[in-house]
Amino acid sequence: MTFGLDRLSFTAALIAALGLVTSCAGRTSEPDAAADTASVSRPVDAARIIAADSTPGEWLTHGRTYGEERFSPLSRIHDGNVGDLGLAWFAELPTKRGVETTPLMADGKLYVTGSWGHTLAYDARTGEQLWHFDPEVPKDYAVHACCDVVNRGAALWGNNVYVASLDGRLHALDRDTGAVVWQIDTRINTTDSYTITGAPRVVNGKVIIGNGGAEMAVRGYVTAYDAASGEQVWRFFTVPGNPAEGFEDETQEWIAQTWTGEWWRNGKGGGTAWDSFAFDPELNLLYIGVGNAASWNRKIRSPEGGDNLFVSSIIAVDADTGRYAWHYQTTPGDHWDYTATQHMILTELEIAGRKRDVLMQAPKNGFFYVLDRKTGELLSAEKFMPVNWATHVDMETGRPVEAPGMRDTEEVQFIIPGPSGSHNWHPMSYSPETGLVYIPAKVSSGFYVDDFMTERRKMIWTVNYSVAHMVALPDEMSVDERKAFAKKEVDGLLMAWDPVAGREVWRMPKGFYSGSGVLSTAGNLIFQGDLHGNFTAHDARTGAVLWNRDVQGGVMASPITYELDGEQYVAVAQGYGGETSLPFGVVSAPFELVNISRLLVYKLGANSELPVVETAIQEIPAHGLAAAPAEEIEAGRTLYNAYCAVCHGGNATSGGIVPDLRFRIRELAPAWKEIVIDGAFAPNGMPAWKDFMTPEEAFTIRSYVAHEATLGRERGEKRVIRK
Ligand code: CA
Repeated sequence: MTFGLDRLSFTAALIAALGLVTSCAGRTSEPDAAADTASVSRPVDAARIIAADSTPGEWLTHGRTYGEERFSPLSRIHDGNVGDLGLAWFAELPTKRGVETTPLMADGKLYVTGSWGHTLAYDARTGEQLWHFDPEVPKDYAVHACCDVVNRGAALWGNNVYVASLDGRLHALDRDTGAVVWQIDTRINTTDSYTITGAPRVVNGKVIIGNGGAEMAVRGYVTAYDAASGEQVWRFFTVPGNPAEGFEDETQEWIAQTWTGEWWRNGKGGGTAWDSFAFDPELNLLYIGVGNAASWNRKIRSPEGGDNLFVSSIIAVDADTGRYAWHYQTTPGDHWDYTATQHMILTELEIAGRKRDVLMQAPKNGFFYVLDRKTGELLSAEKFMPVNWATHVDMETGRPVEAPGMRDTEEVQFIIPGPSGSHNWHPMSYSPETGLVYIPAKVSSGFYVDDFMTERRKMIWTVNYSVAHMVALPDEMSVDERKAFAKKEVDGLLMAWDPVAGREVWRMPKGFYSGSGVLSTAGNLIFQGDLHGNFTAHDARTGAVLWNRDVQGGVMASPITYELDGEQYVAVAQGYGGETSLPFGVVSAPFELVNISRLLVYKLGANSELPVVETAIQEIPAHGLAAAPAEEIEAGRTLYNAYCAVCHGGNATSGGIVPDLRFRIRELAPAWKEIVIDGAFAPNGMPAWKDFMTPEEAFTIRSYVAHEATLGRERGEKRVIRK
C-alpha cells in the first residue's frame, strides 16, 4: 500500500535486474482458444464504413461514421425498456490511469485502448479477452503529457487495428492476433515533448494522426501514413516554423505573416491537433481540429499581435495530398488555451429553408459553431455557455468581438471560460431524430497572470502564465470551501442544443468538472457517465433520467452500442483521470474521485454484478519534519509550482491519480534526493530532475510539501483509497 523505503529498494533492485526500460517494440500476449468463438474478420474498407447506417450493428470508426455523429440507429433498447438494462459482462483494464477511449466493434470483436496505448481485443458477446498489446511506453515519458497518459481509441482498416502510444509511436496490429505489423515513430524530433493521446482515423487507405504538447512548447502537425506499409504520404504543419529554415510549402509562407516576433523559439507555436478529425468522402476533405497556441500568452508568443494561424482553428485539407482547402479560426490570436480540437460533427441541417452540409463544433471558447463544410462559410456562432472574453461573433467578418481589456493581464485576469473550457475533449453527439446536439458542457473560468519566463525547457509547462494562479488555492480555505469553490468554477452538465435555432433546449446536472462523452440512439436515449461513478440513460427529448447505475468509479470516455444475434449491447470504458486529476488536483481532491479502470458491457435482461470495491479513509500522517523557515518554504513553493504542480497538483494536493505527496512525505523524506534528483522512481513515472535543480533546491520543495502536509492535517483533510 505504501511507497516506503522497502518499495524504494525493491524498485532499485528491479532496475538493476532488468536494466532501464529501453525496448520500444511492445509486447502482445498470445491469443487463446477463445479467438475461435468470435466471428471471422472481414477487411474493413471505405465502403464498409460509409455503409455504417445500413449495418448499424457495428461500430467501425471512432465516431461510428466518418461524420462522427455518435448516433446509433439501433433501437432494440429504447426509452420504454431501458429499465431492464443490466450488466452483461465487464473486464478489468490493465492500468490505473485515465481512460478516454471509444471502443470499436467489428465482426463480433471489441477493440479497446487503455492508458498509454495499451490495446485489447475481446469477444463482444462474452467478454473473453482475445489478445492484449502493451506498447511498453517508458513510464517516465508521462511527464511530457500535460493531461495524463490517456488514449482515446483505435482505428480499423483492412485486417489491421491502428493505435498510437503516448510516446508518439503509431502501431499497426493484426486484428485477429494483436501481432505487430508495423510501427513508426511519428515525432519530428525527440528533443521536444511530443505525445499522442488521440485516436487515428483511416481515410482512403491512409492513417491520419496528430499529436499533443502545446502546453510543453512544440510545433503541431498532422501526418498521413500508408495503412499497408506505414510509409509517410503527407504531412501538414498547423503553425509555421522558423522562416530562416525555409517554409515547407506556400501555406506555411502565408500563415507566417500572421505571426510576429520569434514564435519558433519560446513556445514553438503549438497548434497541436491532438484529438478531432472528421472526413467527407464526397468532398474528399479531411477536417482537422487545431489546438491552442504555445505559449498561451500572446504577449510573449507573438508580441506585435496577429491571428497566429492556424491555432484554435478548424482546417479542411485534401485527404489524399494534405493540401489546404479552407480554415475557420474560432479564436484569432488565442490567449487563453482555447483549443478547437473539440469533436466535430458532419451532418445535414435545414437552415433558413435550405439544406446545408454542415460541420458543427463546440470548442473550449464557449461558442457553438455551424459551418458550411464545403467552403468553410460561417453559418452561425452562438454562446452555449457563459462567456466574458467576447461579446459575440460578427457574422459579416466571422470574427469574435472581444470584450475590452481581456488581454490586459497586468493584474489577475478573470476569464470565462477558463483553460478547461466550456467543453473539452469529451465527444458530443448529434441525433438526426431529435435534431439536437448533446454536449458534455461545463461552467468554467480561469485566473490568468502574466509570467514572462521565456527560457523554454523540455518537460515543464511553457504557457507564460503563472501556473500557481491557475492551480493553487489560498492556504486558509477549508475543505468545504474548496469543494464549494470547485463546484462554482468547474461544474459539468449535459446540454441539449438546437443547432439550427442556436439555443439550449434542456440541461441536466453532471457533477464536478464534466460528464463523459455522449452516445445518442434511435431508442430516444442518451447514454452518459460522470466522474462520480454514475452511468446514466436520459430521455433524448426531455433529459429525464430513465436508468442509472453506480459503477463505483468515474467515467470520462464515450459509450458505444452494437448488435449481435439480435441483441443490442451498450459498452463504455471507465477510469477517472485526465486533465482535471493532475494540475487541478486541489479542486478535484475534495470530491474523493476514484479510478477503477474497466470495460463495462450492458444488455437487456442481464444481471451480472460488479465486485465489491473495498475502500478506506486515510488521514495525512504526522511527518515529523521540523518546520522550515518561511523563506525556504516560499522558495520551495515557487519551484514546486514550476516543476511539480502540473502532475502532483496545486498546493501539493493530488487529484488521486499520482501520489498525494502530503500523505507520503514521512516515508519519502529520507530518500528525497534519490527520488527527485536521481530518478529512483523513474520506472514508476517520476523522472529525474537533476538537470533542472540542485539537491539543495529539491530540499526546499520537501520543506514546502511538509508545510502543505501540516496545513492539510490541521484542516482535517482525508481521502478515500481503494484497499
Ligand atoms: Ca491546451
